[in-house]
Amino acid sequence: MPPKIKEHTCPLCKGTGFPKSMEPARPGRRIYPVKCESCHGKGKISEMS
Ligand SMILES: [Zn+2]
Repeated sequence: MPPKIKEHTCPLCKGTGFPKSMEPARPGRRIYPVKCESCHGKGKISEMS
């Protein structure tokens, strides 16, 4: 039986939960890991059918 909720790897962050930052690294500026907006840092996206 297939589950009702499908999970697949987030294409935006490729399953890491933290996509690469668009901004270039600047010296003196601390870079915080930004959670993926698509999967909310989970790395997987749940699809409800
Ligand atoms: Zn993601």
